[in-house]
Amino acid sequence: MQTAYLTHPACLKHQMGADHPESPARIHAIEDQLIASGLMHYLAHYDAPEVTREQLLRVHSDPYVESVFAQAPETGLVYLDGDTAMNPYTLSAALHAAGAAVKAVDLVMTGEAENAFCNIRPPGHHAGRSSAAGFCLFNNVAVAAAHALSQYGLERVAIADFDVHHGNGTDEIFHDDPSVMLCSTFRHPYYPYCGAESGNSHIINVPLAAGATGADFREAVTQHWLPELENFRPQLLLISAGFDAHREDDMGGLFLREADYVWVTEQLKELAARHAGRRIVSVLEGGYALNALGRSATAHIRVLSGL
Ligand SMILES: [Zn+2]
Repeated sequence: MQTAYLTHPACLKHQMGADHPESPARIHAIEDQLIASGLMHYLAHYDAPEVTREQLLRVHSDPYVESVFAQAPETGLVYLDGDTAMNPYTLSAALHAAGAAVKAVDLVMTGEAENAFCNIRPPGHHAGRSSAAGFCLFNNVAVAAAHALSQYGLERVAIADFDVHHGNGTDEIFHDDPSVMLCSTFRHPYYPYCGAESGNSHIINVPLAAGATGADFREAVTQHWLPELENFRPQLLLISAGFDAHREDDMGGLFLREADYVWVTEQLKELAARHAGRRIVSVLEGGYALNALGRSATAHIRVLSGL
């Protein structure tokens, strides 16, 4: 069965200023590498629909969703927090980004695809129940998890987050919901300066020191994520796929390589084969060194595709 690939042209029109690292070029960087590698041709392509209000309200508060819609500008930029802005196309991009994650869940739950990758922006994992933060408006992976629980009656969904930054929005949204396990590795102390102690047993937060290498990352995943995921037996595995822990990404300060993304994807794929009927939905989070982002995402998608 083919790996599904979801994106939408609206994701290319959201911009937060000419020099902002969270740029439309990130989508192109991944697509360029997928094309150059020959992998693009083997993926099943889908246009992302807009997420519905009902789907958003499973994880975000009504006043927050209302405020994002109300603040969408007709011209120029409006800042929701210090580093998260909306231009006239941002709302559409955010709705399609979250909609991609929902559609990807539908594709794997109905058996139309074995797994899926969503090449989307804005990213989502810093967005909380009622807050935009860190380039994120709606929490795409959380919307996907809530959709799987609600629409398909699943009882256990896991999220693996290997972005260099802690997915504090996802942590907040599911902190009191043991049906969702979050496994997160992240540089600490570093933005968003929280998460070192999760305080509960279904949020598996593993801080990494500045300068951590692929070997450190693999040890963290082996020691902390995999045993917990094995016990949890997720019926669906979601991935917050941020590639900003790559050694070429100056924003991250960690030293992962493509081979580390290949390794962790293999581990997660084996876990999904044992417990989740092979179902994996991976959504793009960070990754700002464009060439490294394209190579790393392509390596990740190649493992998902089994090619
Ligand atoms: Zn990040």
